[in-house]
Amino acid sequence: MAKKKVCIVGGGATGAALLWMLAKNPDQWDVTLIHNQDTVGGHSLTKNVPWNGGNFPIDVGVQFISPMLYPNVHTMLKESAFSSRVPVTNYNSLRIACAFPRNAQGNPVNWGNFPAYQTGPNFALYTEDMKYDANVFQNFLEFAIFEGWGQKTLKEYFDNPPQTYRNKDQFVNFFLAPYLSIINGYGAALMDQTLIVEIIPLFATIPFEVTPLGSFTKPGVGWQRFTNGAGSWVQAMVTVAQTLAPSKILLNTNVLSMWSDPTTGKVTVTWKTDPTAVISSGVFDKVVLTTDMWTNSKILNNPQNQYYWTNLYKKYIGYGRDVNMNPLGSPVVWDLMWGQCFIHTDSKMLSPDLMQQQETLQFNAYYASTGGGKFDLLKTYTTYIQKNVLNKTGADGLYLTMYGYIPSKANGDTMPDPSKVIYTTPWTHGKWTPAFMGDAKKNLHLAQGLGNITYPGQMNTNIYFAGNNTTTDSEEGALDAAIAIAEYAFGGQYPFNGWVHPLAHEMYNIYKDLMFPAPNAAHAVATRLALYSASSPAITSAPAKKKTAVKKAKAEKKRKPARQKTKKSKSPSKPAKKAVRKVVKKKKTTRKGAKSRRKTVSSKSKR
Ligand SMILES: Cc1cc2nc3c(=O)[nH]c(=O)nc-3n(C[C@H](O)[C@H](O)[C@H](O)COP(=O)(O)OP(=O)(O)OC[C@H]3O[C@@H](n4cnc5c(N)ncnc54)[C@H](O)[C@@H]3O)c2cc1C
Repeated sequence: MAKKKVCIVGGGATGAALLWMLAKNPDQWDVTLIHNQDTVGGHSLTKNVPWNGGNFPIDVGVQFISPMLYPNVHTMLKESAFSSRVPVTNYNSLRIACAFPRNAQGNPVNWGNFPAYQTGPNFALYTEDMKYDANVFQNFLEFAIFEGWGQKTLKEYFDNPPQTYRNKDQFVNFFLAPYLSIINGYGAALMDQTLIVEIIPLFATIPFEVTPLGSFTKPGVGWQRFTNGAGSWVQAMVTVAQTLAPSKILLNTNVLSMWSDPTTGKVTVTWKTDPTAVISSGVFDKVVLTTDMWTNSKILNNPQNQYYWTNLYKKYIGYGRDVNMNPLGSPVVWDLMWGQCFIHTDSKMLSPDLMQQQETLQFNAYYASTGGGKFDLLKTYTTYIQKNVLNKTGADGLYLTMYGYIPSKANGDTMPDPSKVIYTTPWTHGKWTPAFMGDAKKNLHLAQGLGNITYPGQMNTNIYFAGNNTTTDSEEGALDAAIAIAEYAFGGQYPFNGWVHPLAHEMYNIYKDLMFPAPNAAHAVATRLALYSASSPAITSAPAKKKTAVKKAKAEKKRKPARQKTKKSKSPSKPAKKAVRKVVKKKKTTRKGAKSRRKTVSSKSKR
């Protein structure tokens, strides 16, 4: 049988992991990977910086991984093909410093999670009261699940905590918010969107694991770094894949647009390789976009793809935002954020009140003052001190500063001296906790091309979405998304034995179910269908112009490949079918009824 032509867009961790998954079936897939940088990596980008006579692998995006939080990455790295290529170094002293503007009396107020930054005039914020409150919060997290707090947000908890805090507001503003900002991509704290269950693994002590990963009172333990940088892992996945089945890798190449032919289901992709001005194109049987959703929006919204853009992608992918966060159209479905990083040698990026350089990273609100000791969290940034990150004295004087926005001198932002900048790049990214963009993630399966699970109203686009936006913004999220799409659209199988880390398979299942809700779970199907019938232009009884969409959706269904129809075991279970019938019946109700149902479903399904 002739091999099917597959295009993977994006050579970050997800694209490379998918290449590796597809290489396991070399007779089936003829793969082309297109990536816009000169090396694979994406957000797992490592720059080798010559400095002080040495050469230092500085990670621009990904800094740390953890076996407990990332059990599939850990499992993969234990496989012989990877353990020899991708060494990791344990990092058991994550020292965090937080620097603030001077208080109303003009005194420095900083603190850190390690002894050297907890006493003395510079660390006035680390008081007995703050230590007490930090312990109250950390102890609360240990038992929060059992006490029913898991699905509540941090805001809900702090609005009315059952525990007594000595100075709750100060703890939230000066201790918790900086940590949340770092976790969420160096931007907002988002207390109203962060579920307690999501931060428990960061602060809790977990049996048989090296924990706690994070603490307000002592350095975090249980972390690892890719010894040669995160890019070495992505490169290794590509190398191993190439040894299994050679594929085409186009670097320095930007995918410009793609469209699916509603009749043949073939996907045309156009691209441009730097520095040429020539635009090339290819036709593929399947395409997987591992790029972020704002990039996907630009790629999919083109004149040739208007049928699918209007009927499908506008709703589930939507528009992005410009660097000032202005929407590029309506709706904006994915709440990503812009950020920028700088590798530099400008020590003035540290707070003048906190220059000791003993920490791994410094959260800096010193320059984000709004007066009277207060600060604007959205104007802060974080600097990683490379001699401590890499644990190499030779790296003294090298820094990496991350912003959760695009900084500009014109806006009064503090930035590294341009003459001391070694490398800088802007990017769009999601947030670490899976609940962010939860509704967009939960609905995305309806925009996926057909796969081993069918959902009503899906269209036969042969275009698929994977990547950290579809799961969570981490290396584990990227790897699990790649495995899930390989299983869903390419007949792939979970690749690990699961004996290395007991949580690996379970963690994968959580992300797989997020991307592709299980069809045999009646409640999942009912929720999806209710949501769909309440809001889908293709199914809702609607104004006349929508009827064409219904017709086309039916035609799509007919065109489903035979494999889809014969997979009886994958069809919804009896209770699920009952739910389907119920929903189909309901679709005849009025628009008003549909609206109120949508409201109920989204409030119920809010995690
Ligand atoms: C500042 C920062 C710090 C982070 N720190 C950590 C951390 O410490 N630990 C952790 O686990 N995770 C961290 N993450 C998250 C982690 O980096 C990502 O979740 C993961 O690497 C994403 O992999 P991906 O392949 O899904 O996406 P990406 O890495 O974004 O890969 C997709 C790539 O596709 C390429 N591309 C874009 N447009 C096009 C186009 N038109 N044509 C072709 N190619 C294109 C880009 O180079 C893009 O980067 C961090 C992320 C950021 C931004």
